Amino acid sequence: MDAENSSYREFEVSDELVERAREMGLFGNVRGRIKKMAHYSTPYTHPRGNRRFGEFVLTVGGGRVVSIEKIGVGISMLAGDNDPVPCPDCDGDGGFCLTCNHTGVVTRGLAAELARIDAAVV
Ligand SMILES: [Zn+2]
Repeated sequence: MDAENSSYREFEVSDELVERAREMGLFGNVRGRIKKMAHYSTPYTHPRGNRRFGEFVLTVGGGRVVSIEKIGVGISMLAGDNDPVPCPDCDGDGGFCLTCNHTGVVTRGLAAELARIDAAVV
């Protein structure tokens, strides 16, 4: 992830927040993914945050991401979002994978979310 790219709005993400997001199941370049989520999030009215990106609610203010919460698959209104699909991070074989907790399977909604985060152009 290139933090020097001038067209991309940088958000500050603390180590603590990165750790928290990791505990919630984010993996890999967690800081970069949070920054992307903040950048591409939409305004959201929720007691736990003011921006939303897919299953995640963020509190963003003053150029910083202050909090991140996972609001869960129940929020999705798209048919099929809770259907199981092979995990995109281990190609469904589980293995050493924190995304699927070694089950090899995630929901279609989460798989789409991860693909969107990774495809976001920085
Ligand atoms: Zn996996």
